[in-house]
Order: sequence, then structure tokens, then C-alpha cells
Amino acid sequence: AAKEAGKNQVVEFSPRMREARLRHAELAASLRAALAADALTVLYQPIVDIRSGQPVALEALLRWRTADGRNVPPSQFIAVAEEIGLVVDVGCKVLRDATAQASTWHARHDVAVSVNVSARQLSSPSFATDVLTILADRSLPPAALIIEITETVLVEAAGAAGELAQHALTALREQGVRIAVDDFGTGYSSLAYLQRLPIDILKIDHTFTATLDSPGERGERFVGAILGLGSSLGVPTVAEGVETARQAALLRELGCPLAQGYHFARPCPPEGILDYLSTPVALRASLS
Ligand code: C2E
Ligand code: MG
Ligand code: MG
Ligand code: MG
Repeated sequence: AAKEAGKNQVVEFSPRMREARLRHAELAASLRAALAADALTVLYQPIVDIRSGQPVALEALLRWRTADGRNVPPSQFIAVAEEIGLVVDVGCKVLRDATAQASTWHARHDVAVSVNVSARQLSSPSFATDVLTILADRSLPPAALIIEITETVLVEAAGAAGELAQHALTALREQGVRIAVDDFGTGYSSLAYLQRLPIDILKIDHTFTATLDSPGERGERFVGAILGLGSSLGVPTVAEGVETARQAALLRELGCPLAQGYHFARPCPPEGILDYLSTPVALRASLS
């Protein structure tokens, strides 16, 4: 009877599943075309010293402009890119763009570029050498690059893939590339991974920043605890998604050294970077 019910369920859901599969296939095809047509672009968002407002890094954030003018956010296509085996190509494109941009500002501004990397990309056997080759092509020192990985990336990179990923991170770190743990606090086994992986930067997920707006001190205690973890590990912490002056003030009080969010600056196209970097902070604040 259970088998029968199961069968019925499959029949019942099949049109919806077929539709989902179609949408997936369509998305996959247009993503392939987008990569070929260079319709994937990168925006750059400052990560700043929370006291001075000075940028210390720019995070590369991928955008997909479709032919009909829509802007598809990465949350809607990175997973598909992973599934159809396109994420390594997409990731390479982002790394090339981001390092090309970084080389336009690096001589004058000591500001790193921070690039998000997915699980597949990280466990591709040539990842570390690809990254080092790209840096050399751009004449950029490895210290100019930060690689952002999420805890999920490490969980997904289990077994042999996980070992490849760990080797890649170790090899890059030995050369001076810094590793940031992104969206910290939202994944599984956060602490276990932190214990095993040597890291350089901890990025507190925006959901924790948002709790600073709730009444009571629970949000502050949580953020404070994560900041404490960062300082025990000897790594600086970035608060993500800082949207208000009040959040920034609370974070300063709690001793958070770095921040990223609309309150400081929105992601901007590469044409705006040099202007941004050479505008004094005081002037920038009065403009925003
Ligand atoms: P993320 O790495 O945590 O990046 C921060 C996200 O927060 C970005 O979303 C950014 O636009 C957004 N953000 C920045 N400041 C604020 C703020 O004050 N308030 C709010 N509500 N949001 C803010 P975005 O650009 O949509 O990217 C989403 C995620 O997609 C990223 O999260 C990252 O995990 C992934 N992603 C982006 N670019 C790439 C890429 O090149 N490769 C890979 N594998 N993943 C990427
Ligand atoms: Mg990130
Ligand atoms: Mg994040
Ligand atoms: Mg996030």
C-alpha cells in the first residue's frame, strides 16, 4: 500500500517536477550562453575599518545581466552552475576579473580583493596553481588576495574532495593568500571546522548584525561571543550587512574591527573603484 501511495505521489508531482526540470535546463542553457557572451559581471563592495571607515579590501560580487535586462542575483544561479559543472569556469572568470581590477588600484592603494569560492571550485585539483598563476599574470602579490569560503563549502567538500580543498587552502596560505570564513555562524559544525582549518579572517553573517536591532542584549551577547572567538584565534572579524549607524556604533563598542554593508558602501561597478579609493573618508561620509 505504501508503495502504491508512493507511486501515486510520483504521478501527482510529476508535472511540477517536469516543469522544474525544464526551468533548470533553461537556466543552465542561458547561463552557458551568458558565460560565453561575457554577460557575467562583477561588482565590488568595500570592507572597511569600522573606526576610520578606510577600506581594507573590496569583495568581488558576481552579477548576471540577462538579455532582457534582468539582474539575476548569485543566490539564484551559483547552485545551478555547480550542478551543471560550470562553476569552475564561472569562478575562473571572477578571479580573472577581480585580480585584473585589483592590479589597477594595488600600486596606489593597499587594499586587497576578496573573492568568493564555491565547494566544487575549491576541490578542483588545479585550484591552487590556477590562483597562483593568475596572480603572477597580474603581477599581484598573494597578500593582495583573500579567498572567501563558507562553512557549507567545507561540509560539502567531504572525503577526497575535502582533502583536496584543505590542501589547496594550505598551499595558498603558505604563499600569503588569506582565507576568510564567510557567513560565519550559519553553517553546520562551525567550530569543528574552525578548529581544523587555519584561517585569517572571520566574517560574521549578516543575520547576527541584524539581531543588534532587537530589544534586549541577546544580540549583543552573541556578536560579542563571536568577536571573542575571533580574538582567541587571533584573527580580525568583519561584521557583514551593517546597514545603520546604530549597528555600526554598537559593533564599535563591542570591539569589532572591520565592517561591510550598505551603511558604509554598496557594491559598485569597477568604473567607480578608483574614485572611491581616492575620495577622503570624511567627504565620502557626507555624500552618502
Ligand atoms: P556573501 O559572500 O555573504 O556576500 C555578501 C552579500 O550581502 C552580497 O549579496 C551583498 O550584496 C550583500 N550585502 C552587502 N551589504 C549588505 C547590507 O548592508 N544589507 C544586506 N541586506 N545585504 C548586503 P550578493 O551580491 O547577492 O551575493 C550573495 C552571495 O552569493 C554571496 O554572499 C556569496 O556567497 C555568493 N557569491 C557572490 N559572488 C560570488 C562568486 O563570484 N562566486 C561564488 N561562488 N559565490 C558568489
Ligand atoms: Mg562573501
Ligand atoms: Mg557573507
Ligand atoms: Mg551572507
